[in-house]
Amino acid sequence: MEVRLQKLIAGTGLASRRKSEALISAGRVTVNGKVVTELGTKVDPGRDHVKVDGKHLSAAQPFVYLLLHKPKNVMSTLDDPGGRTTVKDYLHGVSVRVFPVGRLDFDSEGLMLLTNNGDLSQALLHPRYHVPKTYLIKIKGVATDDEIVQLERGVKLEDGMTSPAIVKKIKKAEQNSWLEVTIREGRKHQVRRMLETVGHRVIKLMRVKMGPLALGDLAPGEFRFLTDREANALR
Ligand code: URA
Repeated sequence: MEVRLQKLIAGTGLASRRKSEALISAGRVTVNGKVVTELGTKVDPGRDHVKVDGKHLSAAQPFVYLLLHKPKNVMSTLDDPGGRTTVKDYLHGVSVRVFPVGRLDFDSEGLMLLTNNGDLSQALLHPRYHVPKTYLIKIKGVATDDEIVQLERGVKLEDGMTSPAIVKKIKKAEQNSWLEVTIREGRKHQVRRMLETVGHRVIKLMRVKMGPLALGDLAPGEFRFLTDREANALR
Protein backbone atom coordinates (compact mmCIF):
# COMPACT_ATOMS: atom_id res chain seq x y z
CA MET A 1 0.00 0.00 0.00
CA GLU A 2 1.37 3.40 -0.95
CA VAL A 3 1.55 6.27 1.53
CA ARG A 4 2.81 9.80 1.34
CA LEU A 5 6.50 10.00 2.15
CA GLN A 6 6.07 12.54 4.99
CA LYS A 7 3.38 10.34 6.58
CA LEU A 8 5.68 7.33 6.51
CA ILE A 9 8.53 9.25 8.15
CA ALA A 10 6.27 10.81 10.79
CA GLY A 11 4.72 7.39 11.52
CA THR A 12 8.08 6.03 12.69
CA GLY A 13 8.22 8.66 15.42
CA LEU A 14 11.42 10.13 13.94
CA ALA A 15 9.87 13.57 13.43
CA SER A 16 6.51 15.33 13.34
CA ARG A 17 4.62 15.55 10.05
CA ARG A 18 5.77 19.14 9.54
CA LYS A 19 9.39 18.33 10.40
CA SER A 20 9.26 15.32 8.05
CA GLU A 21 8.18 17.67 5.27
CA ALA A 22 11.10 19.94 6.09
CA LEU A 23 13.50 16.96 5.95
CA ILE A 24 12.18 16.08 2.50
CA SER A 25 12.35 19.67 1.20
CA ALA A 26 15.90 19.97 2.51
CA GLY A 27 16.97 16.99 0.36
CA ARG A 28 17.76 14.78 3.36
CA VAL A 29 15.49 11.92 2.28
CA THR A 30 16.23 9.32 -0.37
CA VAL A 31 13.90 6.73 -1.89
CA ASN A 32 15.71 3.77 -3.46
CA GLY A 33 18.93 5.76 -3.45
CA LYS A 34 17.55 8.92 -5.11
CA VAL A 35 17.00 12.21 -3.29
CA VAL A 36 13.30 13.09 -3.26
CA THR A 37 12.26 16.67 -2.51
CA GLU A 38 8.65 16.54 -3.73
CA LEU A 39 6.31 16.46 -0.77
CA GLY A 40 3.45 14.48 -2.28
CA THR A 41 5.67 11.55 -3.32
CA LYS A 42 4.01 8.20 -2.66
CA VAL A 43 6.05 5.27 -1.43
CA ASP A 44 5.33 1.66 -0.62
CA PRO A 45 6.93 0.82 2.74
CA GLY A 46 7.08 -2.85 1.75
CA ARG A 47 8.88 -2.16 -1.52
CA ASP A 48 10.74 1.14 -1.33
CA HIS A 49 13.89 1.78 0.67
CA VAL A 50 13.60 5.11 2.44
CA LYS A 51 16.58 6.69 4.16
CA VAL A 52 16.84 9.90 6.18
CA ASP A 53 20.35 11.36 6.37
CA GLY A 54 21.61 8.08 4.94
CA LYS A 55 19.99 5.94 7.63
CA HIS A 56 17.19 3.43 7.06
CA LEU A 57 13.90 4.32 8.67
CA SER A 58 13.40 1.96 11.56
CA ALA A 59 10.07 0.21 11.92
CA ALA A 60 7.28 2.28 13.39
CA GLN A 61 7.80 2.74 17.10
CA PRO A 62 4.89 2.85 19.52
CA PHE A 63 4.20 6.26 20.94
CA VAL A 64 5.67 6.89 24.37
CA TYR A 65 4.53 9.61 26.77
CA LEU A 66 6.24 10.49 29.98
CA LEU A 67 5.87 13.08 32.64
CA LEU A 68 9.01 14.45 34.30
CA HIS A 69 9.34 16.72 37.31
CA LYS A 70 12.05 19.00 35.94
CA PRO A 71 14.17 20.20 38.83
CA LYS A 72 15.26 23.82 39.14
CA ASN A 73 18.53 24.77 37.39
CA VAL A 74 18.12 22.18 34.64
CA MET A 75 17.68 22.95 30.93
CA SER A 76 14.32 21.87 29.52
CA THR A 77 16.01 20.98 26.21
CA LEU A 78 17.74 17.69 25.36
CA ASP A 79 21.14 19.26 24.74
CA ASP A 80 22.89 22.32 26.02
CA PRO A 81 25.87 23.78 24.19
CA GLY A 82 26.98 25.24 27.53
CA GLY A 83 27.19 21.76 29.09
CA ARG A 84 24.51 22.35 31.73
CA THR A 85 22.37 19.50 33.01
CA THR A 86 19.35 18.87 30.77
CA VAL A 87 16.11 16.89 31.14
CA LYS A 88 17.79 14.10 29.14
CA ASP A 89 20.05 13.43 32.11
CA TYR A 90 16.98 12.30 34.09
CA LEU A 91 15.57 9.82 31.56
CA HIS A 92 17.37 6.75 32.90
CA GLY A 93 16.38 3.57 31.12
CA VAL A 94 14.29 5.29 28.42
CA SER A 95 15.52 3.79 25.14
CA VAL A 96 13.06 5.63 22.85
CA ARG A 97 13.96 9.14 21.65
CA VAL A 98 11.43 11.45 23.28
CA PHE A 99 11.23 15.22 22.95
CA PRO A 100 10.04 17.83 25.44
CA VAL A 101 6.65 19.39 24.69
CA GLY A 102 7.37 23.07 25.25
CA ARG A 103 9.82 24.67 27.62
CA LEU A 104 10.28 25.66 31.23
CA ASP A 105 12.81 28.29 32.25
CA PHE A 106 16.15 27.07 33.62
CA ASP A 107 15.17 28.30 37.09
CA SER A 108 11.58 26.99 36.91
CA GLU A 109 10.59 23.49 37.94
CA GLY A 110 7.68 21.15 37.53
CA LEU A 111 5.66 19.22 35.02
CA MET A 112 7.19 18.49 31.63
CA LEU A 113 5.65 16.15 29.09
CA LEU A 114 8.03 14.28 26.80
CA THR A 115 6.94 12.18 23.84
CA ASN A 116 7.98 10.78 20.48
CA ASN A 117 4.55 11.73 19.07
CA GLY A 118 5.60 14.82 17.14
CA ASP A 119 2.17 15.63 15.73
CA LEU A 120 0.56 15.59 19.17
CA SER A 121 3.38 17.71 20.54
CA GLN A 122 2.86 20.37 17.87
CA ALA A 123 -0.90 20.35 18.40
CA LEU A 124 -0.49 20.84 22.16
CA LEU A 125 1.86 23.78 21.59
CA HIS A 126 -0.33 25.41 18.97
CA PRO A 127 -1.99 28.57 20.33
CA ARG A 128 -5.26 27.43 18.69
CA TYR A 129 -5.62 24.61 21.26
CA HIS A 130 -5.26 26.93 24.28
CA VAL A 131 -4.05 24.14 26.56
CA PRO A 132 -4.32 25.46 30.14
CA LYS A 133 -1.11 25.41 32.19
CA THR A 134 -1.17 26.02 35.92
CA TYR A 135 1.78 27.39 37.88
CA LEU A 136 2.37 27.75 41.61
CA ILE A 137 4.46 30.84 42.11
CA LYS A 138 6.13 32.52 45.04
CA ILE A 139 6.36 36.27 44.58
CA LYS A 140 8.09 39.10 46.38
CA GLY A 141 5.49 41.04 48.34
CA VAL A 142 1.75 40.50 48.44
CA ALA A 143 -0.44 40.93 45.34
CA THR A 144 -3.39 43.26 45.90
CA ASP A 145 -6.91 42.42 44.73
CA ASP A 146 -6.54 45.08 42.05
CA GLU A 147 -3.32 43.47 40.76
CA ILE A 148 -5.03 40.07 40.67
CA VAL A 149 -7.86 41.54 38.58
CA GLN A 150 -5.33 43.12 36.19
CA LEU A 151 -3.51 39.81 35.78
CA GLU A 152 -6.79 37.99 35.18
CA ARG A 153 -8.05 40.48 32.60
CA GLY A 154 -4.73 40.78 30.76
CA VAL A 155 -1.61 42.89 31.10
CA LYS A 156 0.46 44.63 28.45
CA LEU A 157 3.78 42.91 27.67
CA GLU A 158 6.28 43.97 24.97
CA ASP A 159 4.75 41.31 22.70
CA GLY A 160 1.14 42.37 23.30
CA MET A 161 -1.69 41.93 25.78
CA THR A 162 -1.99 38.64 27.61
CA SER A 163 -5.21 36.63 27.29
CA PRO A 164 -7.49 36.16 30.30
CA ALA A 165 -5.91 34.14 33.11
CA ILE A 166 -7.13 32.63 36.37
CA VAL A 167 -5.21 33.86 39.42
CA LYS A 168 -5.78 32.64 42.98
CA LYS A 169 -4.11 33.75 46.18
CA ILE A 170 -2.77 30.72 48.03
CA LYS A 171 -0.94 31.96 51.12
CA LYS A 172 1.20 34.69 52.62
CA ALA A 173 4.71 33.99 53.91
CA GLU A 174 6.27 37.00 55.65
CA GLN A 175 7.53 39.35 52.87
CA ASN A 176 6.46 36.94 50.14
CA SER A 177 3.27 35.25 48.99
CA TRP A 178 2.09 32.37 46.84
CA LEU A 179 -0.26 32.52 43.86
CA GLU A 180 -1.72 29.90 41.55
CA VAL A 181 -1.81 31.18 37.97
CA THR A 182 -3.46 29.42 35.02
CA ILE A 183 -2.74 30.68 31.50
CA ARG A 184 -3.67 29.32 28.10
CA GLU A 185 -0.75 30.87 26.23
CA GLY A 186 2.91 29.92 26.25
CA ARG A 187 5.03 32.97 25.57
CA LYS A 188 8.63 33.09 26.72
CA HIS A 189 8.95 33.88 30.46
CA GLN A 190 5.27 34.80 30.35
CA VAL A 191 4.34 34.31 34.01
CA ARG A 192 7.47 36.07 35.26
CA ARG A 193 6.85 38.98 32.89
CA MET A 194 3.17 39.22 33.85
CA LEU A 195 4.05 39.47 37.53
CA GLU A 196 6.83 41.98 36.90
CA THR A 197 4.34 44.18 35.06
CA VAL A 198 2.28 44.51 38.24
CA GLY A 199 5.40 45.01 40.36
CA HIS A 200 6.27 41.60 41.79
CA ARG A 201 9.39 39.58 41.17
CA VAL A 202 8.84 35.82 40.87
CA ILE A 203 11.05 33.98 43.34
CA LYS A 204 9.89 30.44 42.62
CA LEU A 205 7.85 29.01 39.75
CA MET A 206 6.52 25.47 39.51
CA ARG A 207 4.26 24.10 36.76
CA VAL A 208 1.76 21.77 38.43
CA LYS A 209 -0.75 21.10 35.62
CA MET A 210 -0.86 20.98 31.85
CA GLY A 211 -4.19 20.17 30.22
CA PRO A 212 -5.41 16.90 31.78
CA LEU A 213 -2.03 16.13 33.39
CA ALA A 214 -1.09 16.88 37.00
CA LEU A 215 2.36 16.73 38.61
CA GLY A 216 0.96 15.12 41.78
CA ASP A 217 3.60 14.05 44.25
CA LEU A 218 6.31 13.23 41.70
CA ALA A 219 9.61 14.37 43.26
CA PRO A 220 12.03 16.68 41.39
CA GLY A 221 14.07 14.61 38.92
CA GLU A 222 11.58 11.72 38.85
CA PHE A 223 9.52 10.69 35.85
CA ARG A 224 6.69 8.28 35.17
CA PHE A 225 4.94 7.02 32.05
CA LEU A 226 1.45 8.35 31.45
CA THR A 227 -1.43 5.99 32.07
CA ASP A 228 -3.46 5.02 28.97
CA ARG A 229 -6.27 7.20 30.27
CA GLU A 230 -3.96 10.23 30.53
CA ALA A 231 -2.46 9.64 27.08
CA ASN A 232 -5.94 9.27 25.56
CA ALA A 233 -7.08 12.48 27.25
CA LEU A 234 -4.31 14.40 25.45
CA ARG A 235 -5.54 13.52 21.96
N1 URA B 1 6.27 31.25 32.58
C1 URA B 1 7.51 31.65 32.91
O1 URA B 1 7.76 32.84 33.10
N2 URA B 1 8.48 30.72 33.04
C2 URA B 1 8.26 29.40 32.87
O2 URA B 1 9.18 28.59 33.02
C3 URA B 1 6.95 28.99 32.52
C4 URA B 1 5.98 29.94 32.38
